Order: sequence, then structure tokens, then C-alpha cells
Amino acid sequence: MAAGSDRPLILVTNDDGVHAPGIKALAEIAAEYGEVVVCAPSQDKSGVAHSISLHEALRVFEARAGAWAVTGTPVDCVYVGALHLCDRTPALVLSGINHGYNLGSDVYYSGTVGAAREGQLRGSHALAVSHDREANLADVAPFVRVVVEQLLGLQAGMPVLLNLNVPANVQGDRPVVTRLGQRVYRDLVDERRDLQGRPYFWIGGPPEKADGQEGTDVWATRRGFASLTPLTLDCTAPTLDAWTQRIGGPSYADVGDDD
Ligand code: MN
Repeated sequence: MAAGSDRPLILVTNDDGVHAPGIKALAEIAAEYGEVVVCAPSQDKSGVAHSISLHEALRVFEARAGAWAVTGTPVDCVYVGALHLCDRTPALVLSGINHGYNLGSDVYYSGTVGAAREGQLRGSHALAVSHDREANLADVAPFVRVVVEQLLGLQAGMPVLLNLNVPANVQGDRPVVTRLGQRVYRDLVDERRDLQGRPYFWIGGPPEKADGQEGTDVWATRRGFASLTPLTLDCTAPTLDAWTQRIGGPSYADVGDDD
């Protein structure tokens, strides 16, 4: 359990599992800035998004000195880490460094981003970090430092969520701020047969190379730039008036309290 300290408390997690090289690299960076608690899934939980284990028990054990493994999802790890292993709300939740990009619609599937989002929901500034599978962790580190320094300089109370992706052979020394683009995959449902002749399925094909619209994370990383996308919890579309007209009902302003 982390004892009180003047240094900022940083909770580090991931979805690739507590033994992945990426989380070890991220924890080493975090230790340059604060007191670190590592709490991550005991196994690879990539692609579990924001799932939480409400119907099964979680085991928590020390995987190595200062690093806790949880038999659950990345969100479980932030929940247990922030509320049980940490003695105060972490200043920062870092998630990654994920082996593989999390771009565009990936943020709805990614356990890496899910964990960071949970950190934001629990009142911490949060950063998800992912890299191209061909990139090496040493090249990612300077970009993480740039963003972590900015996050630690922000006031607490209005937590932000950032999504950082770093390509191989990255250009420059600062990420380009982008919006979410469109990730394209070769969609696959692969039907196979088990030894009894019954069908089973593998879903999810490999990513396709897509250029993406200018200004998006897909676009920036395709051009060799690190991409930083600020995300919001409120994904309401800016079309409330149009929908109010289509539905023909009262607007929220019509039914709101006047006083
Ligand atoms: Mn992963």
C-alpha cells in the first residue's frame, strides 16, 4: 500500500497484462515524476474496453515489488488500485504502453483507453499510451514525458483524458494534437470446426492501411507523427435542436425550471 508522500501519486495500469514490457517502461517513466503504484491485469485483457467484473471475485497479488496483479479487467485494476491500494486519489492514471495503436473507433474497444477513462471518472487526470507494433518503447518515452509534465501541471478537479499514439520512426519531439479518425479493419468472421465437427468462430481481422482525414489521429500517425487526442466523457452529438424538431416534443428549455 502506498504511504503518504509529497510527490504526486501515479497509478499505472494497462490491458496487456502486468508482465508486458510496455507497463514496465511506463512505470519507469512514472517513477521519474512521482510515487508509483502499478496495478494491472494478471493476463492479457486487450479489447475488453470498459468492462467491469461485478459478478465474480477478484484476486489481487503482488506480481513483483510494487506491482499488483488483478484477476480482472483494466477497469477493475483502476477501481481496486485507486480505491484500495492507493491512500489518496492518484494525481495521474497512466495506461499502457499498449502494444499496438488505439486510434479512432479503437477507443471504444480498447482496454488501455477504458482503464484511462476509469481513471478520469474517478477524478484523476488520465493518459492512455499506445504505439505501433513496429515502434520501440525507448522512442515512445520522450512523448510520454512531454504529456505527463503537462498533466501534472494542471489543477486537480477537472480531470482530463488524453490518448497518445506513437508510430515507428516517429518524427519530431512533440505530439500533434488531433481528433479521432476512422480506423479501418478487414472484418472477418472465420468459421472453423472443433474435433466433434461443431462450428466455432474467430472474429476480428487485421487493420488495413488507411490514410484518414486531415487532422485525425489516423492521419497523423500515418505521416510519422505522434498523435495526442483529448477525449471527453460526454459523447452527445451537437444536434439536439434537430432531434427536438424531428421528434416534435418539447425541448429541455420548454420543460426546465424557470426559477
Ligand atoms: Mn492491449
